[in-house]
Amino acid sequence: MIHKEYILQDWSKCVLFKHATPKYSFHIWTAMLDRLSTCDRMLKWNPAIDPVCVLCKEEVETKNHMFFSCAYTSQVWQKLMRGLLCVRYTEVGEILLS
Ligand SMILES: [Zn+2]
Repeated sequence: MIHKEYILQDWSKCVLFKHATPKYSFHIWTAMLDRLSTCDRMLKWNPAIDPVCVLCKEEVETKNHMFFSCAYTSQVWQKLMRGLLCVRYTEVGEILLS
């Protein structure tokens, strides 16, 4: 069978819309499907790699670690999002990608 039917994700319209920037849409889409080349996934392809996060060197690099629990990226994320969202800022970002 060549043609495969895919389930339309309910979040797809939030990622792919008329004026979306393709490279950001692709990155978010990939993250939502847990297909980013994070160290925990690359470890399956090559057991010889070091899976520890290169930014904080504290935990295995996973999608959720990279975006929400890494000490280094948390500081960058907080500074960026507090400036953009002001009072609507939340640190419960894991809900967004689960
Ligand atoms: Zn880290």
